[in-house]
Amino acid sequence: MKFGGSSLANTGRFHSVAEIVRTQLHHRPVLVLSAIGDTTDLLLEAGEEAIKNGVVDIERIEKLHLGIIAEMKLNDAVSTEIKPLLEELKSLLTGISLIKELTARTRAYLVSFGERLSVRIAAAYFSSIGIKAQAADAWDMGFLSDSNFTYAELKDESWELIPNKFLSLGDNILQIVTGFIAKDENGNITTLGRGGSDLTATMLAAACGAREVQVWKDVDGILSADPRIVKNALPVKIITYEEAIALAYFSDQVLHPRAIQPCRKAKIPILVKNSYNPQASGTRIVMTADGKTNPIKAIAFRKNATLVDMVSYRMHGQYGFLAELFSYFARHCMSIDMVATSEVSVSILLDMNYDLSVIKEELSRIASVSISPGKAIVAIIGDIGRSSEILSHSLRICEHLGVQIQMISQGGSKVNLNFIMDVDKVEEVVEKLHRDFFEDSK
Ligand code: ASP
Ligand code: MG
Repeated sequence: MKFGGSSLANTGRFHSVAEIVRTQLHHRPVLVLSAIGDTTDLLLEAGEEAIKNGVVDIERIEKLHLGIIAEMKLNDAVSTEIKPLLEELKSLLTGISLIKELTARTRAYLVSFGERLSVRIAAAYFSSIGIKAQAADAWDMGFLSDSNFTYAELKDESWELIPNKFLSLGDNILQIVTGFIAKDENGNITTLGRGGSDLTATMLAAACGAREVQVWKDVDGILSADPRIVKNALPVKIITYEEAIALAYFSDQVLHPRAIQPCRKAKIPILVKNSYNPQASGTRIVMTADGKTNPIKAIAFRKNATLVDMVSYRMHGQYGFLAELFSYFARHCMSIDMVATSEVSVSILLDMNYDLSVIKEELSRIASVSISPGKAIVAIIGDIGRSSEILSHSLRICEHLGVQIQMISQGGSKVNLNFIMDVDKVEEVVEKLHRDFFEDSK
């Protein structure tokens, strides 16, 4: 069971988490926790303060943690475990303020304090309410990573190391493990990237062959659309790993694709739940999700895309032309999101705000190039086996709204159909699609 920072933001939240965990103790869960509230951001800010202004200031971090400890009357934990960590953090910041250097390695060490504090407070709290618990740092539980300090990859050995550690532990004590952090082979602390606690949890569950992993967030699960745009967005009850991964590329409301991978590999279901509303059924992410009638699971979109159209008669019947063309984008480190080609033309979509002036000049040597910013990409996640049905609905909606689709991509992925349009009406299209597929039929 993984709980994120906002599920642990204050004493009240800790009580709710305990209630949730208590109902599931018979399943013998392991807990993975993020840093409390926005501690990770506070740590990064403290690092910046130390380096820029030479000031060591952990007042907000101390207040947040000591406040919770005082409210929960966990004073013993403070003297034995929390105080030394806060002292260590202060020394580190003093070091940073003196040498005026904050390398990726030090940054990972710096942010590790968030999770190290949260698991210790949680273990003291659980024990105080009669649930015997023990805090553990992930690196003592088999989480071994490479040395990419701020976005480390777990090493394959972890698949063996983790279960070896856990399976040798007694059953009757709740293990509370730090999310987000690991160590490399030289014993340096690393982090798995922002939001990386989800990956800790899914990896742990997958490596140990758990029955399921529950990721407790502050929303009712994965939603069928962005609720800021689509008021009637609803939680998706069941979705496949592939669909969830496809959706995650378009929307940050869900798990990071990286966090889904271990469970997909081990076929362990992921349940996304809301700690603020535990009654809600949440979203199950599984291998296959049959028996559904709605061909669509979710609709997502992204703005700020740029369409690059290239036409060259040299391309006709040629080989190697596409390779040459793409090599320009590779040289400029530009990531291409979508491609459509015909005999003599290629259209590509870039979804970052690159400066395209130089590449335009280069490409113009081999093709006539036109660049159109201000595009949006709409992604329909669902059963592409029913693509004609999805397309016919979608096209009718676009026609009705006077929107011209400028590029379509389907086939590369079996769960995802994308189309490109001008950005101005994308929200309207998404709303209407949602109404058509999710609301009118209900
Ligand atoms: N505490 C880390 C972060 O805020 C990791 C996590 O929350 O998953 O990014
Ligand atoms: Mg966090």
